[in-house]
This record gives sequence, C-alpha cells and structure tokens, in this order.
Amino acid sequence: MKKITILGSTGSIGVSTLDVVARNNDKYSVFALTANKQVDRLLEQCKQHKPEYVVMADTDSANLLQSKLNESGLDCNVLAGEEGLIEVSSHDNVDYVMAAIVGAAGLLPTLAGVKKGKRILLANKEALVMSGQIFMDAVKQFNAELLPIDSEHNAVFQSMPYNASGTMDERGIKQIILTASGGPFRDTPLSELTAVTPEQACAHPNWDMGRKISVDSATMMNKGLEVIEACWLFDAPVERVSVAMHPQSIIHSMVEYHDGSILSQMGQPDMRTPIAHALAWPERIQSGVDSLDLFTMGSLEFKKPDFERFPCLRLAYEAMQIGGTQTTILNAANEIAVDLFLNGEIAFTEIPNLIEKVMSIMTPREAISLDVILEDDAEARRIAYDSVKVKNTLH
Ligand code: NAD
Ligand code: MG
Repeated sequence: MKKITILGSTGSIGVSTLDVVARNNDKYSVFALTANKQVDRLLEQCKQHKPEYVVMADTDSANLLQSKLNESGLDCNVLAGEEGLIEVSSHDNVDYVMAAIVGAAGLLPTLAGVKKGKRILLANKEALVMSGQIFMDAVKQFNAELLPIDSEHNAVFQSMPYNASGTMDERGIKQIILTASGGPFRDTPLSELTAVTPEQACAHPNWDMGRKISVDSATMMNKGLEVIEACWLFDAPVERVSVAMHPQSIIHSMVEYHDGSILSQMGQPDMRTPIAHALAWPERIQSGVDSLDLFTMGSLEFKKPDFERFPCLRLAYEAMQIGGTQTTILNAANEIAVDLFLNGEIAFTEIPNLIEKVMSIMTPREAISLDVILEDDAEARRIAYDSVKVKNTLH
C-alpha cells in the first residue's frame, strides 16, 4: 500500500488524482490533502478519502476546517501554512507526493519531498521552471523518483528508451517534439485578441484545467514553460525541443530518434492517464479514461507555431537560451501578469509585453542557490506589479 500526499487536492489535477486513487484503493491510500482556502471542498474530500493530515494555506481556513471536521466527527490532524505543507510532503510515512499546487507556492513543499527521496509526481511545472538545476541536482542527490504528470512530458517519458543514460545523442535521440493544442485563440483574428475576457481565455477547447494554466494555454506561455520543463526533465538542450501545433490533442508528444523513428503516446485528453501512469510506473493500472476510438477520432493535423500570435512562446525560448535566473524571472512575471489579467487590470495582449518588460529590466544571475532564485522571483514580481499599478494610477 503506497501512501500519498496530494499538494493542491482541490484543484483540477488534485481531483483527478483522487479519482484514480479511489479506483485503485487496494494499492494507494491518502496520507494528506491540502488546499489554499477551499474549506468546504476539502471537508468533502476528507469525508470520502479519510486522510491522516490536512493542510490549509492560512490559519483562519485551518481553524474553520478543524471545527467542521469536529462537527462531522472526523479525526484528522489539521496544519496550516508552508510549514504544514512541508511536513506532509516530507513525512516518513509518505511514499508518493503529488505536486499539484499551482505556481511558485509549490516549490518549497515539493522540494521537501525531493529531499526525503520520495516519488514525486510533478504537475507543478512552475516549481521546476523557476529552480531548474537546483531542483534536478536535489533529485539526484537525494535519490528521489521524478515522474512527469504534464501530459506532454509524461508522453515523452513513455516514448524514451528505458534505462538509457548520457547525452541525447548517446541515447539515440534527435529531438523532443511537444504537441500543443493552441488553446481557445488559435484561430481568432489577431485584432480581436486585445478584447478577450478572462472567461473566454479560460474556456479551453480540449482540456478542463485551473484558471492560471488555462490562461497560460491561451497565450501559449504554458507551452513555453513546458519547453523549459522538458530541457530539465530530459537533459535536453533547448534547440532540440520543438513545438508542433496539434489541435486535436490526441498525440500528447513525441521523441524522434536518429534512425528516423518517431515514438509517441496517444490517448484521450484526460489527465487521469498520465496520473495513473506515474502512480503505477513501471506497472499499469485502471484510470477510468475511455478508449480512444480510432475510427471516429478523425484526422490528426500538425502545423508550426506562430510566434507573432504567441509571443510568450518566443519569450520562454529566449529565457532558456539566456539561462540562469532568467527562467525564474519569466515565470514570476508571468504569474503576476496572468493574475492582473484575471482581475481585469490588464488586457490579454499586455501579458507578453509586461513579461518582456520585466525580463529587459532585470539582469539574470547564475542560479547558484535557492536564495538567489527566491530573491529574483520576488524582485520580478515586484517590478511587474509596480509597473502596472503605477501606470494605472497615472491614467
Ligand atoms: P487549480 O487552480 O485547479 O488547483 C490548484 C491547487 O493548488 C488548488 O488545490 C489550490 O487550493 C492550491 N493552491 C493554490 N494556491 C496555493 C497556495 N498559495 N498555497 C497552497 N495551495 C495553493 O490548478 P490545476 O489546473 O490543478 O494545476 C495545478 C498544477 O498542475 C499547475 O502547476 C499546472 O500548471 C499543472 N498542470 C495542470 C494540468 C491540468 O490539466 N489541470 C495539466 C498539466 C499541468
Ligand atoms: Mg501540458
């Protein structure tokens, strides 16, 4: 029986994870569930999954949850804040940590699990994008098992040679091809993009996801973050990670080999497949996902991404080429830009402009320590936030 901590259990990935766990309750049990402020949703999850620990982001929410648990006669340890998250991801009784908090808030709790050598199921790409080398070094040093949940990276992992090590050439790999649906605005006339609303941006045609990643998919910053994520996960130089637009989201990504073979993983666009894969690896379990009906799915299309339509994708490539803390800066500026867009403070098309501005103002440093990373993360957020707030006050 493997015990699992789910960081971010009330989110889209968290809920899908609980679904897969419940289908396989002879193999997995829930050790801890955590959420930001969604007390009632976490209470419902506690009733169903009986975790030993729960963590809320702040003490008020934790107290409220505690009293509701008492009323329901449920016995469960309630913790609060980042220390609580770190405790449940590094606890001796935990085997697997599902890292499904959105954004930089997931970094330290995820790293705490890494440093205890847990199996880490990584959905929280922002954590890896902001800390790159430091994160991967810790995975090696503490012998953690890192399994990608992002559907593209999970597909790449499944298409990689088993047990092969060394450079991409030593593994026989020519390039990694990440597929991208292009999001809700892949065909919208460019002149209409300024006026798009948060609701339109969050209405993804193929995937049902949290609001932040939905906006990232609409700007294609999501694919940019995924290019960076792929470089770290698979030890790939950025020029050997390419992106192919594939509106059907059936092929989840590909690995091209020097002999001309291209291996890929296909399936329904449902995150329960990569979640089940990473939980059971190297075995396979039921995920609840329907079979892909080859005879009705229609044709599969591929085309080159358009950097004019999606400047965020270009910015992510540039940040990775520059290296050091530039990817930390990119990620932090993007988190603020998306937040401001979702709160109606900037237009959709201002998102890349704001990120580019922050990237041009700051000088990236060598990412030699977690402190340096956290400092540049905070500074990029401050610059991004201030430059919009000052502009909005002047108007
Ligand atoms: P979501 O917004 O639906 O859920 C986020 C979860 O994190 C919630 O449980 C929320 O309570 C918690 N949370 C948010 N801020 C927090 C904070 N400051 N402190 C503690 N907890 C906090 O997001 P999601 O769509 O489930 O995505 C989660 C992560 O997985 C993201 O990094 C995303 O990029 C990645 N991911 C998601 C999908 C998907 O299909 N949803 C696919 C691939 C990767
Ligand atoms: Mg993805």
